[in-house]
Amino acid sequence: MNFFQRKAKKNLINFIKDDIVDIYVIPNKRNRLYKRKDGRLISHRALMKVIRGLMKEKSRHRICPLCYEEEVPNNNATDGLCVNCYNANKYEENLPDPDLSLMEDNFMYAKGDFHIHSTNSDGKYDVKSLIDRYIDKEFDIIAITDHDTMEGCKEAIEYGKTKGFKVVPGIEISTKYNGEDIHILGYFKEEDCRRDEMIEFAKVKQQDRIDRCKKIVSSLKKYFNIEISADELLEKTEGMIGRPHMARAIISAGYATTMEEVFTKYLDDNSPAFIPSSFLTPQEGIDLLRRNNATVVLAHPILIKNTKIEDLLNTFKFDGIEAIYGLNSEADTKAFISICKERDLLITAGSDFHDYNTSNHCNIGDISLGIDSIDKLLKTL
Ligand SMILES: [Zn+2]
Ligand SMILES: [Zn+2]
Ligand SMILES: [Zn+2]
Repeated sequence: MNFFQRKAKKNLINFIKDDIVDIYVIPNKRNRLYKRKDGRLISHRALMKVIRGLMKEKSRHRICPLCYEEEVPNNNATDGLCVNCYNANKYEENLPDPDLSLMEDNFMYAKGDFHIHSTNSDGKYDVKSLIDRYIDKEFDIIAITDHDTMEGCKEAIEYGKTKGFKVVPGIEISTKYNGEDIHILGYFKEEDCRRDEMIEFAKVKQQDRIDRCKKIVSSLKKYFNIEISADELLEKTEGMIGRPHMARAIISAGYATTMEEVFTKYLDDNSPAFIPSSFLTPQEGIDLLRRNNATVVLAHPILIKNTKIEDLLNTFKFDGIEAIYGLNSEADTKAFISICKERDLLITAGSDFHDYNTSNHCNIGDISLGIDSIDKLLKTL
C-alpha cells in the first residue's frame, strides 16, 4: 500500500467512525444495519454506496476504495471503483465488509437468548454445538447459564469469537426461599469468566451432588431394595449428576418402565429415599454474584408460587427479571415487563433450553430478547 492508498483507507475508516454511531448486527451479514448520527438506519449495501461516493470525492488520485491498488477510470461508469473491483462487486452478494473490528464497542446485537444449559450441567449439547445451532437461528448473542457452574463459558466465548458471535458468561444459581426454589441468573464480564470464587463454588456444588447421589443410591437399597451402582452412575454421567440420571439407571435395571413411575414410586420429594440438596439462600446467591461483578437477574418468576414477586423484589436486590419466558402467558409477560418498568429493572428473556421438545423448557429460537433490552443488559456488564 502506498501513501495515497493508505490515506484513502484512513479516510474510509474516519468516515465510518464519525458517521456511524451504532451497528445492528444481524448474523447474516447482508442484513447488517448501521445507525448514522442523524438517527437514520442504512443497510450495508447503502453504506458501501455512500463510502464509494465519498471516496470518489475525497481521493484526488482516484484510488479504488475497495482494493486500494488500482486507479478508478474517469468516465464514472464503474461506480467509483476500479474496473477489476467493479466487475467483482457488480452483484450485491460480493460487496465487501468494512473493517468492523475498529468499532467493536459500538456493536449492537439484535437477537439474544440469555438462559441456556450445556453439557456442563444438564443440557444435551456442548457449548460449540449450541453456538452453531443459535447461529443457524439467526441469533447474534447468547449467555451460557449452566446450573451452579461457569465451566463452559471460556470455551464458548472463544469459539463464538471465531464465528463473529457474542457469548456472555453466565450462571444459574439454585437457592431456596419460603419452601421453594428461587433460581438466580448471573451475567459476567468476559474477563470474569473464570473467577476463583466461582470455580470454588462449582467444585463444592459438584461434590455435594456426588455425595447426595451416593446417599440416594444407598437409601434406594435400604427402602426399596433397588440395587444400582453409584460408581457406575457417576462414571457414566457427563456434567452434573441429578435425579434424572438415577431414574434412568433404575429403569434400565428393570425396576420401573417410565420416568414418571420412577419419580412417583421412588424419587420424588416425599420418598423416604430422597435426600434434599443443600441450597444457598437467595441473599447468599446474590452476594456471591455481586462479589464477582455479576449482573443479578431473577430467573423465571412465573415458577415462583409461594412468594409474591413484588415482595421478593422488596426483600432482595435484583438488577433485572427474566420477564420473557416460555411458560408465561402473554398477560404474565406484560405484567413482568410493567414491574420492570416501574422499578427500573432490566428485562431479560430466556428459553432455558436444555434439549429439543422437553415439556417445561423452550426450543432454540422460541424466545428472544431484542436490540434495546440487550443493549441495556450489556451496559451493566
Ligand atoms: Zn436444568
Ligand atoms: Zn431454573
Ligand atoms: Zn435454567
